Amino acid sequence: MNVRDIFETMDYGPAPEDAKDARAWIEDRGGIAGHFINGTWSDLRHDFDTKNPATGEVLAGVTKGTDAEVAKAVAAARKAQPKWAKDAKARAKIMYAIARLMQKNARLLAVMETLDTGKPIREARDIDVPLTIRHFYHHAGFAQLMDSALPDAEALGVCGQIIPWNFPLLMLAWKIAPALAMGNTVVLKPAEYTPMTAMIFAEICTNAGVPPGVVNIVTGDGETGAALVQADVDKIAFTGSTAVGRLIREETAGSGKALSLELGGKSPYIVFDDADMDSAVEGLVDAIWFNGGQVCCAGSRLLVQEGIADRFYAKLKARMDALRMGDPLDKCIDIGAIVDPVQLQQITDMVAANTAGETYQSGAPEGCFYPPTLITGLAPSDTLMQEEIFGPVLAATTFRTPAEAVGIANNTRYGLAASVWTENVNLALDLAPKLVSGIVWINATNLMDAAAGFGGVRESGFGREGGWEGLQGYTRPKGKAAKLTPPAAFTSDDGTPADPLDRTAKLYIGGKQTRPDGGYSQPVFNKSGKLLGHASIANRKDLRNAVEAMSAAKGWSKSTGHLRAQILYYIGENLSARAAEFAARINALTGTKQGTAEVEAAIDTLFTWAAWADKHDGAAKGVPIRGVALAMNEPVGNIGILTDDTRPLMGLIDPMGPAIAMGNRITAVASEAFPLAATDFYQILDTSDVPAGVVNILTGPHADLAPHMAAHGNIDAVWSFSSADVSGVIEAKSISNLKRTWVNNGTSREWPSSTWRAQSTEVKTIWIPYGE
Ligand code: NAD
Repeated sequence: MNVRDIFETMDYGPAPEDAKDARAWIEDRGGIAGHFINGTWSDLRHDFDTKNPATGEVLAGVTKGTDAEVAKAVAAARKAQPKWAKDAKARAKIMYAIARLMQKNARLLAVMETLDTGKPIREARDIDVPLTIRHFYHHAGFAQLMDSALPDAEALGVCGQIIPWNFPLLMLAWKIAPALAMGNTVVLKPAEYTPMTAMIFAEICTNAGVPPGVVNIVTGDGETGAALVQADVDKIAFTGSTAVGRLIREETAGSGKALSLELGGKSPYIVFDDADMDSAVEGLVDAIWFNGGQVCCAGSRLLVQEGIADRFYAKLKARMDALRMGDPLDKCIDIGAIVDPVQLQQITDMVAANTAGETYQSGAPEGCFYPPTLITGLAPSDTLMQEEIFGPVLAATTFRTPAEAVGIANNTRYGLAASVWTENVNLALDLAPKLVSGIVWINATNLMDAAAGFGGVRESGFGREGGWEGLQGYTRPKGKAAKLTPPAAFTSDDGTPADPLDRTAKLYIGGKQTRPDGGYSQPVFNKSGKLLGHASIANRKDLRNAVEAMSAAKGWSKSTGHLRAQILYYIGENLSARAAEFAARINALTGTKQGTAEVEAAIDTLFTWAAWADKHDGAAKGVPIRGVALAMNEPVGNIGILTDDTRPLMGLIDPMGPAIAMGNRITAVASEAFPLAATDFYQILDTSDVPAGVVNILTGPHADLAPHMAAHGNIDAVWSFSSADVSGVIEAKSISNLKRTWVNNGTSREWPSSTWRAQSTEVKTIWIPYGE
């Protein structure tokens, strides 16, 4: 036998990690995972089991939190919050201590995570735990910098946080670290299958000097989660399935609670014929077999360029055969167990129900394991190409051209992540902005870091975790919002016209003045009951036409900031030329003398957003890789806006300025009581080179149009500044496509520029490792 033979025939010996300490830790604490409330363990009961999925053994009993226990935890958090919010630098020290203690307990945390989830110890040790620690260090820094870097921001208050079972400790960190850093207190509910590392974390909090009530953990299942959603919290931060995310959106609608949703995905993994094939195969091992494919951003849809497909599949199958599956505590294991037999059954059923394509599976041990699976020859519309499987199953298809790759990649209701593999940097960077997703990895996959935003678009949810952008979800501008009183439209007994010509203002759709579909209009009077004109009453069909016009104006989103700036300046200039006329109109509509000031403010606002149009820069994040992570600001898309009806002109200009400056297309519903300043504005738009469809203006009752706006599948975000009570209905109806909503709950405040810019953009993180 020569050396080569020895290498080729050598097998792996077992290298199991000892779980003795982790088991002893559980035993020492009575074998029960339960509530950590106000700094103490309370009401512990063995209501159900948490098991080691690799063996089926019971690890510990778990307490199922009741409504009363959730309320108790929220009350503790509420009481602790003001003091915790006071001293940002003291928070930084405590968070730093948490990070240090996690480092000290890294081994215990990794082994416990593996016992509870079935993930390979190699992953828990080298990925979950280090990333968790990095998150606390990084956010300790954000606490240190809060007063100087975010002087206008303050904490939301008490945050309810609900997390899934696939990365129990890491998801805990993603939720708790930014919340604490910004001065919030938290009540976190771990997933029912995996509460154990949260227990160690609670103990670390005590040892790090976290004051009682600042971090509360309540264990339980979906019912406990539902109780937390209902409780007296200021925000719900949820990571989990799209179905539960939708439910929570409906439950919290109109409550005034802030919400962030990090949901499912079906992320494309695109391999071009010039890619480094071996790297792309190795990348796939990470993309779909990391954590057994139980990863929200798993590259579960493989798109291979046709010419190399056969060769690529052959290499991939050979690699699949070499994957080692088994005891997750063994350091030589690549793939561990599926988290629970229920999840295993779900994967098994989904694959068994598929009749399309060809299925290739490598082997798996007996028990709660599912073999690495590749299904080739699928059509983009096949169920397994569309539905999230959340297991080690890769669905594959082929494409011919880059344009086709983009088309297939975007043919999904999700939008979390995408990977692009090519040696052609021009091609990769051309594709990155075209892919509809929150994250793009170039020649890489599953890269994550505390400094870079993580999160999706479409049904993958909204909000970002990590980076400066993640902090927005845990802060609000300082100061109180004022109550908005609905303005009353003037009425008349006789309807005598102020002007003998009866003018009926039409709608403004696709750059044209259009009659309303229903053919109805409403009279508008001045204070002394004289008729000023009629305003059209838009209905659902008019809204649909406006959405079509917005969608047809996609070119605006690709235009340069420089061009958008010039057009905004031009709008301001044209308004300035007719300032006196607009001021008089506003005075006539409102019966006040606010006209001149409002027009001046509108011109200033337009000039400000013209200035910002080419200055809302992205960022190159300081991530610990050889390469860059670019945070690119992209427009949200089509935005529906219910305007502030107390200010006939500024109600329109305030949201229109930032929205179109950042490249969005809008449909705005004008002030219901005073619509005629917005309809006069059509002429300003017409003479200012605004492309058709970029700004569409409807008139009519806000309450009638709001639900249709929120339910429309081609509107990407809805904003409401209306005095009408439409916030609840907008949030409830927005579940159709899980669009972003920004509603006022009947209040009004002057938003800082940073909020307008954040609401007008999506941050896409593009990871570009470099080096040969
Ligand atoms: P799940 O939605 O069933 O459960 C997630 C959490 O919500 C658990 O803690 C659960 O107890 C709780 N829950 C269940 N019903 C609830 C209700 N009615 N009200 C409140 N809380 C409730 O999801 P899962 O099966 O645990 O996790 C898998 C899903 O999570 C996948 O779809 C995956 O894509 C997603 N995920 C997303 C991300 C991300 O960052 N986008 C990260 C990890 C997982």
